[in-house]
Amino acid sequence: MPSSSAAAQAGGRRLPLSQYVEGVLAGDRVVLARAITLVESRLAADAEKAAHLLDLILPHTGKSRRVGITGVPGVGKSTFIDALGMYVIRDCGERLAVLTVDPSSPISGGSILGDKTRMERLSMEDGAFIRPSPSGGHLGGVARRTRETILLCEAAGYRNVFIETVGVGQSETAVRSMSDFFLLLMLAGAGDELQGIKRGIIEMIDGMAINKADGDNLTKAERARMEYTSALHLFPPSGDGWTPRVLCCSSLNRTGIAEIWQMVLDHEAQLEASGRIAELRTRGALQWMDDLISMGLADLFRAQPTVAGRLPALRREVRDGLVTPLAASRELLGLFHPPLPAKPTKK
Ligand code: GDP
Repeated sequence: MPSSSAAAQAGGRRLPLSQYVEGVLAGDRVVLARAITLVESRLAADAEKAAHLLDLILPHTGKSRRVGITGVPGVGKSTFIDALGMYVIRDCGERLAVLTVDPSSPISGGSILGDKTRMERLSMEDGAFIRPSPSGGHLGGVARRTRETILLCEAAGYRNVFIETVGVGQSETAVRSMSDFFLLLMLAGAGDELQGIKRGIIEMIDGMAINKADGDNLTKAERARMEYTSALHLFPPSGDGWTPRVLCCSSLNRTGIAEIWQMVLDHEAQLEASGRIAELRTRGALQWMDDLISMGLADLFRAQPTVAGRLPALRREVRDGLVTPLAASRELLGLFHPPLPAKPTKK
């Protein structure tokens, strides 16, 4: 592990702002991890510091290749990211940050990804930074601060950022908006229907990888590849003229991995040639602003004492069928008084 400042290791205390900035820009992984914790914090004092930190690192961001990776649990995402990540680090000589989103299940209270060691080889690499983020129930499985985390990783010099999400809820839409390339992992022979993956997701992807194309599964995988390729041709071509490709791979045997990376690079070259990369980032930034406003309003709402005081009782009443959700939400919204407007941002 690269050296890290002694101050950064001195427990869970917050660092002075300048140490976060210097540590992140120097690529210090311990400081980077702590900066992400700061940005994820819900404490008001941390939010202020996090906002300053992000302002200061902003000139050093935006230069990474952002790849979103999705697929249902069990499709092989961690094995695949381990294989592709090792290829990027070892064969391409580039650094990689992997942001995995742990969609803490609101039903079981547990988490799908759990604590099992995922990405075993990658986690031993100096060139890799792996950060699991709790989703906290936000956006059906995307951590509320994933976008800011991407910026911090970019400022720390990571040339590639993978954002992993499980194929649940609205997480795909959010991760799509943060990624330059959006890859869907699939399995062959799991039925004609798209394995619980909604049709809308297929329309968002730049590429598909049929994983576990090995052993007895090889022929089935090749057939699935052809079927999905024809199916994807039925969708109208994207604005940039890119037709999503379908490839086969075995994350276990590490075959087809280089070809998938080449697809990402080809797509990037096309985005750059057409100038669409700027448009993509602008759209992502606008979506980010909208999300931040929604999150900020929700935080303000829940933090207001009149609302916070009444909320638990109303939740109970809704649960017991004594009041309708509509009536309860109207009462709570009626209690909410927005604070005075913040000062406009400096130009
Ligand atoms: P995730 O839940 O999507 O992250 O899936 P995992 O990476 O944990 O993989 C689920 C299971 O599929 C594990 O038992 C893996 O060993 C297995 N697996 C992953 N990739 C492959 C592959 O390419 N071929 C085969 N045969 N098994 C694989």
